[in-house]
Amino acid sequence: MNFLSKVTAIPKLPERIKGLKVLSKNMWWTWNYDSQKLFEIIDLDLWISTNRNPVVFLKNVSQKKLDSVLNDEEFLNLYDYVMKTFENYMNTDDTWFNKTHKNYKGGEIAYFCAEYGIHESLPIYSGGLGILAGDHVKSASDIGIPYIGVGFLYRQGYFQQKINNEGWQESIYESYDFADLAVDPAKDKNGEEVYVDIDIAGKKVFVKVWELKVGRVKVYLLDTDIPQNDPDERWLTSRLYGGDQEMRIRQEMLLGIAGVRALRKLDINPSVWHMNEGHAAFLNLERMRELIQSNNLTFKEAIEVVRAGSIFTTHTPVPAGNDAFPLYLMDKYFGNYWPTLKATRPEFMQLGLEARPDGSEMFSMTILALSLAGRANGVSKLHGEVSRNLWKHVWNGIEAVEVPITHVTNGVHSETWIADDLQKLFKEEFGENWNNEIDDPDMWAKIEKISDKELWEKHQKLKLKLINHLHERLKTQRSRHGETVEELESIEDILDPKALTIGFARRFATYKRAILIFRDLQRLEKILNNPERPVQIIFAGKAHPADKPGQEFIKRIYEISRMEQFKNRIVIVENYDMNLARHLVSGVDIWLNNPRRPHEASGTSGEKAGMNGAMNFSVLDGWWVEGYNKKNGWAIGDNRDYTDLELQDNIDSVSMYNTLEKEIVPMYYDNRKEDIPVNWIKVMKESIRSVASFFNTSRMVKEYTQKLYMPAQVQNNKFVKDNFEVAKDFANWRDILERNWNSIKIKVTSNQDFSETLEVGKIIEIESEIYLPGIGPDSIEPEIVVAKLEDDKVISLKTYDLKMIKEIQQDTYLYRGSFEIEDRGQYGYNVRVSASHPYMPHRNYLMNLVKYPM
Ligand SMILES: *Cc1c(COP(=O)(O)O)cnc(C)c1O
Repeated sequence: MNFLSKVTAIPKLPERIKGLKVLSKNMWWTWNYDSQKLFEIIDLDLWISTNRNPVVFLKNVSQKKLDSVLNDEEFLNLYDYVMKTFENYMNTDDTWFNKTHKNYKGGEIAYFCAEYGIHESLPIYSGGLGILAGDHVKSASDIGIPYIGVGFLYRQGYFQQKINNEGWQESIYESYDFADLAVDPAKDKNGEEVYVDIDIAGKKVFVKVWELKVGRVKVYLLDTDIPQNDPDERWLTSRLYGGDQEMRIRQEMLLGIAGVRALRKLDINPSVWHMNEGHAAFLNLERMRELIQSNNLTFKEAIEVVRAGSIFTTHTPVPAGNDAFPLYLMDKYFGNYWPTLKATRPEFMQLGLEARPDGSEMFSMTILALSLAGRANGVSKLHGEVSRNLWKHVWNGIEAVEVPITHVTNGVHSETWIADDLQKLFKEEFGENWNNEIDDPDMWAKIEKISDKELWEKHQKLKLKLINHLHERLKTQRSRHGETVEELESIEDILDPKALTIGFARRFATYKRAILIFRDLQRLEKILNNPERPVQIIFAGKAHPADKPGQEFIKRIYEISRMEQFKNRIVIVENYDMNLARHLVSGVDIWLNNPRRPHEASGTSGEKAGMNGAMNFSVLDGWWVEGYNKKNGWAIGDNRDYTDLELQDNIDSVSMYNTLEKEIVPMYYDNRKEDIPVNWIKVMKESIRSVASFFNTSRMVKEYTQKLYMPAQVQNNKFVKDNFEVAKDFANWRDILERNWNSIKIKVTSNQDFSETLEVGKIIEIESEIYLPGIGPDSIEPEIVVAKLEDDKVISLKTYDLKMIKEIQQDTYLYRGSFEIEDRGQYGYNVRVSASHPYMPHRNYLMNLVKYPM
């Protein structure tokens, strides 16, 4: 038949429940399980088949189903309750931020990140970094910070993973229709859609800006897949971490440079700029360009302004993981950019220059970020320490313990990651407002009030839910492999809800050692197949498409899972995403994590598990060094690093088997009262209490606010006010110091002639003559540094003032001081001078201005 015309009809949302449309476009629903219930009641199958995407759901739901809930009183009550909760959430002034910073008058805090993991229906994340960013903005919304996010709207996102019948990973890229995602074109104040452009190696690239609402926070997402661009440029925002170095540098130019331009078009003028990982570091170049072009600042003045309000969070504890570009690429892509900074090529390159051991030079995004951010942090206590060692050469002249990279330990967004059933239980026990006190240890101490029976029943229910979910996933996977009906039916036998269940799911980067537990297959077989005390393990995770060894790990696990002796005890499920993660972290008994220490900067999946009562059984790396208290889970190996990797693997795997056999399995199966493992539940409760009260993003974002955002905001205000007077002063002072610094001479004139052993309590007097041409005594801080050594390594450091006695001749000053040896051991001491200025917010704010006697 010929048609006059074709039309697509979409359901008409009844007036009474029109709020569903609003909900569908604000990711708040992702951490409000009641609102998800609404979609489930309307059409559970559709909700699941749309991957829990309310935008697609509302386009595809049958009119009949929509109309029928209008007669369902229970539904309408829940609907009204959800809408009221949402409106209160969006409109309340009673937030932590408003209470804590009553008179805050600064601008927004802008957060730049290449990925955001907010929900599986918005596939613009690959792993931990993205999930952290998603959780960060959710909590920023919860606690009411004036926050803005900037990122990418990828056409294809990260890949969907399939595992074929040989165990190989296949990566499938789907193109998303943005009309199906919870985003809208961003609009400027005149209601016009927002586009910005950027010159990339001589080619003008146009960028469309999208808006994503995450509670009260807006995240602006950049997109080049628009008709104004040529195919090559349209491809730029198609994939997350796809492509080569040129793709990477162009994407990072977009994030940093076009990201700043997008905010300006939207009339957003942040006072604090947070770079989450080095990918975003170009943003400070663009801010410098603005200051130099519009405010007529010099290159050096602009540096001081951007540093004042910038924060950099590093996430990568291994040198190779840090982004760096060869200089020829910098020439190609920034050759016409640095002249707009009124900089010479060397001045520009210096900002990120990294000398490699092989003699080559690279432009490091981490060094660029450190040079242009006044404040920096790692993401766990141990990672802070690792980062200070990794980057101390950037400061030159100070010890790792003095490097001003602090740490804020990662957390997770509790309401996203704690299972609905447990949240209901917590609400009953802790009170209606429990979610406003999510980081309050006193509240979590009430966990003791929950009965063992109740907690265990909830946990068993979640485990069953997980196993059912896995069966569904396995059926899809294996029917694709062409398995017979009988084989597919036998999937129901895989995983026993009564057996001790271990989960292992994360990206399959090789340092995470997914196959470590298989080092001694016979010993493992005995553990898993004990008929009285069965144990089972669930694996999931994607390997980067370019990571062959990671893909081989997947294949190896797949093969083992198909061996007769392991076939119902070990499974690997494909396409790890946030949905699978939620099922796993709440449904398993034990969360296994065995990275090669110290490669795991923080890790967050174990935090999700721990707060659901799935106990951690992990290497003492990342967050777990801080989290482990001997009563809330188990440690693998010991608290140290190895240089012999084979030895490390052996020690860690043997430690794993021992602890499983001697502690974990017996505790799970023994001492049952009415089938409830009482000792086990003690550990569960301690896990929930200790992990949930601290390793949450509510605590984390408050810590960022107090330790980094607010001080940066104060400094930013100081540096920009009165037409940048302070910044200009400071830049001028720094310039004078840098030009004269090499001429400083330090001579120690006190008697050094004592034997090498001293008694504790001995006071050592130091006298020093310091020549300060063109600098003067007010710009420096002279001091005695005393380092406590262990195996010639500095383990701690103390400094003592040197007091100026007099000027002994032109520009030369006499200083005196003393120190006392306080404890036995080995010490080293010296005299040094470092730059000092009242506008410096912390010591070693400036790099390279430290001087020792020759
Ligand atoms: C939490 C999470 C991660 C991060 O896991 P780690 O074990 O910390 O690396 C990665 N992917 C998904 C889907 C997650 O939910």
